[in-house]
Amino acid sequence: GGADIECDVMVLGGGPGGYSAAFRAADLGLKVVLVERYATLGGVCLNVGCIPSKALLHNAAVIDEVKHLAANGIRFGEPDIDIDQLRAYKEQVIAKLTGGLAGMAKARKVQVVRGVGQFLDPHHLQVDATEGKGQDKTGARQVIGFRNAIIAAGSRVVNLPFIPQDPRIVDSTGALELRSIPKRMLIIGGGIIGLEMGTVYSTLGARLDVVEMLDGLMQGADRDLVRVWEKMNAHRFDNIMTGTKTVAVEAKEDGIYVTFEGAKAPKEPQRYDLVLVAAGRAPNGKLIGAENAGIAVTDRGFIEVDKQQRTNVPHIYAIGDIVGQPMLAHKAVHEGHVAAENCAGEKAFFDARVIPGVAYTDPEVAWVGVTEEQAKREGLRIEKGVFPWAASGRAIANGRDEGFTKLIFDADTHRIIGGGIVGTHAGDMIGEVCLAIEMGCDATDIGKTIHPHPTLGESIGMAAEVAHGSCTDLP
Ligand code: FAD
Repeated sequence: GGADIECDVMVLGGGPGGYSAAFRAADLGLKVVLVERYATLGGVCLNVGCIPSKALLHNAAVIDEVKHLAANGIRFGEPDIDIDQLRAYKEQVIAKLTGGLAGMAKARKVQVVRGVGQFLDPHHLQVDATEGKGQDKTGARQVIGFRNAIIAAGSRVVNLPFIPQDPRIVDSTGALELRSIPKRMLIIGGGIIGLEMGTVYSTLGARLDVVEMLDGLMQGADRDLVRVWEKMNAHRFDNIMTGTKTVAVEAKEDGIYVTFEGAKAPKEPQRYDLVLVAAGRAPNGKLIGAENAGIAVTDRGFIEVDKQQRTNVPHIYAIGDIVGQPMLAHKAVHEGHVAAENCAGEKAFFDARVIPGVAYTDPEVAWVGVTEEQAKREGLRIEKGVFPWAASGRAIANGRDEGFTKLIFDADTHRIIGGGIVGTHAGDMIGEVCLAIEMGCDATDIGKTIHPHPTLGESIGMAAEVAHGSCTDLP
């Protein structure tokens, strides 16, 4: 009793995890309430993550592609960039997708409640309508009673303590606002998000420095893949500082001065026009009143779940960034479906063998499953097949033959256990490797599958044949 709204499933957070869970639960016949603090659905991914970054990266990739054509005798002038119009394009892309989500929620009779949610007890959530514009019509505060809950409250940017507040220091959200193009830009954190945003700003005219504490950029991917990206992108950077710590950041009138520490660190503080802090994301587990419902939250703010996405409170589930790494949208969606199906009384488990990772840089870097370096570290007996794109008719025709496709097989069973691709469209291609791993394919299955010629995807079949020691040499 005492609730303004009663439902079967309350989903907290309208990101990719949350909306996927809500839609699946509704499709399974449950009454669903979806609570979101912001005016649009889609969470980080649609509003300030995956989608806007790709909208900008697409434009950057076309600009860069056009430059490659000079070698073929086709020359364009310097691009004339209207940054306001580019920003508007990005906003349109977001609006189209978030609008689509609102329509899908309505069609499924998912009730979207706008406001900040806090658990009151194991069966009630209080929602405070966000201040300012768009306040919920039903009143400032509502209580939602639920049978099951799915927590999908996501993550937020980590702020480094020694970094001052200044409009010239931004996080990924600030960088996506694309206010202006700096001359000199520093990226703190050499992970995917930083390098993707760096690609955009560099193509639009900025010179880049990047600083990374660990000993290499794009951690997680095999170094041979990353080296291809590095070679193709060296021209964007003045200084790549790996194994380097950022120790001080000072905002002065003429720029942001940053001091580094480490073997590759410049002695003097460096001056930048824009600093992007992309040093990781923190889960929102401590911001939702979890303790009132008895939900255990780790010191860092993660919520631990079992294979069914259940928290320590059996009727409450959690999914997406808030349950741990990798913080990726496709993982959140998959977990959302598992949680929703369990709420509907099915017995669903998160049993994906692999979760792919993609850097949507130019070239793209994509990997999945066991990496070669991981195999070495863990002493796994593997076979590998590598197909260099320098032997791919399509890659050569595209003028982009720098990439390669690598497949990793278990040496005993010959089953595929991992793969990595660097090259244009690598992210689109890695899905086939994921499917092959999920299906338990061996090198023969993949090698004997007829791939269309001439495509970049053919390189997956070729790499499998190489692993089998029987390379066909179709140009
Ligand atoms: P989120 O998307 O974080 O959504 C959580 C939602 O919950 C938010 O809308 C938030 O407002 C809401 N919320 C939180 N607390 C409350 C509360 N108390 N009350 C009400 N609402 C609340 N991933 C990829 O897979 N591919 C990519 O290319 C990619 N690119 C990225 C680029 C950038 C710049 C960034 C920052 C991230 C990127 N990611 C990418 C990661 C991806 O965005 C996240 O993994 C994904 O959004 C996680 O989904 P989620 O549903 O767990 O949470």
